[in-house]
Amino acid sequence: MSASSASTPANYKDTLNLLQTPFNMRANAKVREPELQAFWAEAKLYERLSQHNPGESFTLHDGPPYANGALHVGHALNKILKDIINKTALLQGKKARFIPGWDCHGLPIELKVLQGLGSSERQALTPISLRKKAHAYALEQVEGQKQGFQRWGIWADWDQPYLTLHKDYEAAQIGVFGQMVLAGHIYRGLKPVHWSPSSRTALAEAELEYPDGHTSPSVYVAFAVDQLPEALANKLAAVGLTSSSLASAPLAVAIWTTTPWTLPANLAVSVNANLSYAICQTSPEADPSGASEGASNRYLVVATDLVESLQTSLGLQLEPLLSVKGAELEGILYRHPLLERTSPVVLGGDYITTETGTGLVHTAPGHGVDDFNTGKKYGLPVLCPVDEAGNLTEEAGPFAGTNVLKDANPTIIEALKAAGALLAEHRYEHRYPYDWRTKKPTIFRSTEQWFASVEGFRSQALAAIAEVEWLPASGRNRIESMVGERGDWCISRQRTWGVPIPVFYHRQTGEVLLNEATLSHIQALIAEHGTDVWWDRDEAGLLPEAYANQAEQWRKGIDTMDVWFDSGSSWAGVLGGISGQTPRVPELQYPADLYLEGSDQHRGWFQSSLLTSVAVNGHAPYKRVLTHGFTLDEKGRKMSKSLGNVVDPAVLVEGGKNEKQEPAYGADVLRLWVSSVDYSADVPLGPGIVKQLSDVYRKVRNTARYLLGNLHDFNPNPLAEGGDAIPYADLPLLDQWMLQRTASLIASVGADFERYEFYRFFQALQNFCVVDLSNVYLDIAKDRLYVSGADAYRRRSCQTVLALVVERLAGLIAPVLCHMAEDIWQNLPYPVAEKSVFERGWPTSPAEWSAADLEAPMAQVLDLRAQINRQLEQCRSQSDLGASLEAQVHLELGPETSPELLGALQWLEQSRHPEVDNLADWLLVSGLAMESSKTAVLAEATEAGVGVQIAKAAGEKCERCWHYESDIGSHSNHPTLCGRCVGVLEA
Ligand SMILES: [Zn+2]
Repeated sequence: MSASSASTPANYKDTLNLLQTPFNMRANAKVREPELQAFWAEAKLYERLSQHNPGESFTLHDGPPYANGALHVGHALNKILKDIINKTALLQGKKARFIPGWDCHGLPIELKVLQGLGSSERQALTPISLRKKAHAYALEQVEGQKQGFQRWGIWADWDQPYLTLHKDYEAAQIGVFGQMVLAGHIYRGLKPVHWSPSSRTALAEAELEYPDGHTSPSVYVAFAVDQLPEALANKLAAVGLTSSSLASAPLAVAIWTTTPWTLPANLAVSVNANLSYAICQTSPEADPSGASEGASNRYLVVATDLVESLQTSLGLQLEPLLSVKGAELEGILYRHPLLERTSPVVLGGDYITTETGTGLVHTAPGHGVDDFNTGKKYGLPVLCPVDEAGNLTEEAGPFAGTNVLKDANPTIIEALKAAGALLAEHRYEHRYPYDWRTKKPTIFRSTEQWFASVEGFRSQALAAIAEVEWLPASGRNRIESMVGERGDWCISRQRTWGVPIPVFYHRQTGEVLLNEATLSHIQALIAEHGTDVWWDRDEAGLLPEAYANQAEQWRKGIDTMDVWFDSGSSWAGVLGGISGQTPRVPELQYPADLYLEGSDQHRGWFQSSLLTSVAVNGHAPYKRVLTHGFTLDEKGRKMSKSLGNVVDPAVLVEGGKNEKQEPAYGADVLRLWVSSVDYSADVPLGPGIVKQLSDVYRKVRNTARYLLGNLHDFNPNPLAEGGDAIPYADLPLLDQWMLQRTASLIASVGADFERYEFYRFFQALQNFCVVDLSNVYLDIAKDRLYVSGADAYRRRSCQTVLALVVERLAGLIAPVLCHMAEDIWQNLPYPVAEKSVFERGWPTSPAEWSAADLEAPMAQVLDLRAQINRQLEQCRSQSDLGASLEAQVHLELGPETSPELLGALQWLEQSRHPEVDNLADWLLVSGLAMESSKTAVLAEATEAGVGVQIAKAAGEKCERCWHYESDIGSHSNHPTLCGRCVGVLEA
């Protein structure tokens, strides 16, 4: 733009080089983001980069979300973190192929389908028709979630995701199971499960309900001690409880239970090793109730903390004679009060507390999970003298034939009374699980289940854990202790919507048929037909050739696999980590480079994947595991509908019904949130945070817009080749410093991304845009860009920097603010070789930019600038000044001025480009003098040996550049302009 000198422009504003760019101040994300996504799809950008990038493969293996329900911010945190990492890898030239997955089987989907049916439909339902409905439901859910993920700008192979219901996936899973069987890691055993006697079936947690007002008959029972460990016997003798004194007043351990019907199955009493227990002398209270009949004249062991409350509950006086640690009770043998047997006192876990009961826990391994685990530790049998209908069996001795929901409890309580073992009896109201269909109470009952024997490969699993890099490092301790302490893995479920446990049982003997021939035959059938084949066909159609003639002897099993076995087999089904299976796409690697999920997955997917991979291949399926926390509201509370604090990511991105109240912030603001949080802990989100993020987003956007807007007439080719770009060596100090800041940002953001510390990027980005660019460089640059002649060195040098910076800024924000980065790229006002910012690759900077020697003097000058700005600000606040250009600054440097500042000012003065590198311009004032003011001083202060005085600038205000100059009026063509502006207009 060069103005003619012939006529006086009506408005000098038109002679300034103003911003020109179609890049909008407002993101208009609702429209613009989908346009940019369409551009990526059209250009097949993800496909090309992930398959043809020159670098190595990078496999971030997706942990499959459950295919049920709308996406929430937890999904956003997870998938966007993965996308940031993948996009960074793509920019770095790696082949980062990302196959998204979904977990499609399991009870929640089965229940959703059941809930959607009328009662007659439900009656008519067959397993196969239920499976077809569940299949369709899961696909529908996958579709909905997929669209949500895509709207967030996540790049992936959306057209070929992995679903755990795919035939090839199911076949690979059977392959994993089969190899574990053949390696001897799979066995069948008893385990207590929630059982409904009224519907004669096992129930899952989700099929239970807990109605108010349930009461159970609770009983306190004394189990007479038969034998004492020697150390304990000595301690008792020391307080006078010798064997002869105990003969007349026996010692008993006291237990409490709300399920008297389980007493025939009692095989141990568990204590907490760390609790204190008291040996108490008992005597009846003044008004003994009937229940304590026969309870006198004995010694009882109870938890010390409960002595006082038990006096009331039992109606007995308890006088502690001796207290011992729970550990010292281990090894006591007691007589069963109702049956002919003795059992031990054993050490249970922390589940034994002093909240209720006696602190000693009646243990029936066949009827409780804690009991089962403790029993396992001590090699106790899993005794379960209750049949499917809830009737006690012959193993329950005299109680055989009674029913747990009817007469078993009263019969047993009567027997306890008769045996003199009942200490007390009360009704007890508590939460108790009921069958959601029959509305009748459930029980814990042991049934035959399939297990993976973790014991068989535990040491290998622990060794594999040590080979993996866990981020944060505490993740290693978590999974190590979980795997170190866990019991065997129960992998069977009594459900329909899942992968079958491909086993046959002999109809007469119950013998199990599960071998290489049956496994590989069924795996092949499933690869061809999917797991529906297990329900579609009878035994003859499922057994291999060799067994065809004995098909009628066998019955196929009806258990399905735990869905954690499904998802835990993804290293085989997707990454091809098992013989006979190829990776879903060639770029995928096993073990994967990275697994990234919420920290609860140490218990879940990280662990199930580890166990199956170790059991089959002896090593972990991943090299590195990164975890993130959970999303909370701004006050650190869980998000819930009832609290009304749920942030719906769809509303955040697309806006709510009333866009005034719930504006469409766009996917980039959601992504910016993900980058802003320290996700190693739980992360907050709420309206206040969204507001702040959108301010940061706007700041970055406006900075980019300013850079783009000042490049509309710039040719980035070198000056020597006919372009406008000034070579680095010929740039002013200020410009070289700006490039040094840019190089430093590139280095630090690169390192932040390498460590997955995106919140540091978020901080560095803000600092760069707000401090380095807006407050310093662009603030000073305004005059160079607007006022100088379009072609002037002052302006072209600045544009050179703006072009270099904006291209790199776009690259640096691309993994996080992918839409804005692409929008910037599409609005570069000059041609570039790459159609997309993602084709440019990760930003780099020439070595010369890292000019560390610029940092120290620049820091001195910027400190001085800040000091002067404080004085200018004071004048403005007192209305003594408007714009800083109305001021002149007087500096007095004295003997106390630091040599560093003096050196820095000299450095500035010696610049080869004083038209840019001069302090007055950097201060945005009209005059600067190194002497005290001769005119009235508006503000003054001395800091660190530097005196600063602010005075009104001399001269008149130039109408075009607003500088105060003394030559206004001396140019007849332009009487209101300064000489500099006249020079620009007449050039
Ligand atoms: Zn001027």
